[in-house]
Amino acid sequence: MTDSGTAYDGSAQPDARVLELRERVDRFVRTKVIPSETVLDSGGAEAAAALTVLRAEGRAAGLWALPLPADLGGGGLAFRAYAALAEAEGASDHGPAALGSAPLLDVTMLNRHGSARVREEYLKRLVAGEIRACYAMTEPDVPGTAPFRTATRAERRPDGSWCVSGRKWFTSGAAGADLVTVMARTAGTPGDREGLSLLLVPTGSPGFRVVRELPVLGAAGPYEIELDGVVVPADHLLGAGGDALSIAGERLALGRTLRCLRWLGQAQRAFDLMCERAATRSGSRGPLADHQLVQQHVFDALLALRTTRPLVHEAVALLAAGADARTEVGLAKVAAARMLQQVTDSAIQVHGAAGLGPDTPLPALFRGGRAARILDGPDELHITSVARRVLRGHSRGDGAATRG
Ligand SMILES: Cc1cc2nc3c(=O)[nH]c(=O)nc-3n(C[C@H](O)[C@H](O)[C@H](O)COP(=O)(O)OP(=O)(O)OC[C@H]3O[C@@H](n4cnc5c(N)ncnc54)[C@H](O)[C@@H]3O)c2cc1C
Repeated sequence: MTDSGTAYDGSAQPDARVLELRERVDRFVRTKVIPSETVLDSGGAEAAAALTVLRAEGRAAGLWALPLPADLGGGGLAFRAYAALAEAEGASDHGPAALGSAPLLDVTMLNRHGSARVREEYLKRLVAGEIRACYAMTEPDVPGTAPFRTATRAERRPDGSWCVSGRKWFTSGAAGADLVTVMARTAGTPGDREGLSLLLVPTGSPGFRVVRELPVLGAAGPYEIELDGVVVPADHLLGAGGDALSIAGERLALGRTLRCLRWLGQAQRAFDLMCERAATRSGSRGPLADHQLVQQHVFDALLALRTTRPLVHEAVALLAAGADARTEVGLAKVAAARMLQQVTDSAIQVHGAAGLGPDTPLPALFRGGRAARILDGPDELHITSVARRVLRGHSRGDGAATRG
């Protein structure tokens, strides 16, 4: 990185080993993953082959699955330490898959809430990259912001197994996944806050079907899936049953924070491209960098990056300490999504038509920034829940709870 956009990462100073790992991850992503993005984005057999090569190189470089538990075959890096390098790894959307950290959310959830059989049968294979998992909560006819209205149902069968029926959409990575965690109603009726459970469904089960891909802003995207009477073993229920919202909340807090770290890496990349373009492209009155309106783009983007980074690391620190991070994760998620959209938009503007064309990663980064403001809960959901929590604290006279 050549500019000052990364000068302060807001985290506790990582130790020498983590700094060295960060440097190596950064180099791997810049020299191996980013140059392969076009083929990886194209999907199909060629993309799968390129990913296999990258994964082998990542393993050989000692960078495989760094944040996954060591007893399962991962690198055993604690979350706080991993956060120091997740930005570099996530500078490409393909970084986490290439370096084996993509299953972190599924492995964490299954390790904490899966039965002995689930842990025994799947965890090591997930960490090794032999199988893949995805997560299906959102449904076409139910607002994702109101999961208690989930319509997918799981009925208990006499032998204790479950029969699951329903439709989910925007399930990332569903095509090619071996397992999908499905949120389903196991008791009560849609609208009840109780009675929702998570079930781990092997996608090879009869009745499971990937219906279609859902391109996002015209490019590759998540999938719509159907479960038509899929039978799931009793021990594939996560947790105690009926506790889906609490498990999902735990997963989402970690997932949102991870995404924020990766969005910082992607925004930094767009920022670097913008500065390089401004410095090297001459307009009718000399270099673009001399135009004050271009300087405004650079300043605003740098300000967004620099003010978002400490917010994200504040959420990381609280999560790592096991503290209540709901307010900080909400702030970080909204700030990072807006920041990614703003920085990529400015970078496109400074590039002119070239920023919209096929020769830079800016269109893909911009699509990511736009989607960021909706996935894992839209801005409005986080804004209202953070504000309500802060205001509740004030009405109780509990200033410390609001940290506002
Ligand atoms: C690229 C991508 C990947 C995704 N991957 C997954 C995945 O892997 N698994 C999965 O389960 N889901 C996934 N999703 C779905 C995503 O989590 C939901 O789209 C999101 O939670 C919003 O739900 P919704 O689309 O049903 O919008 P709705 O809940 O219908 O909300 C629509 C709009 O209503 C407004 N709104 C909603 N609530 C409020 C409020 N409280 N106050 C004010 N306005 C409000 C907002 O403007 C919001 O954008 C993905 C989505 C995208 C775009």
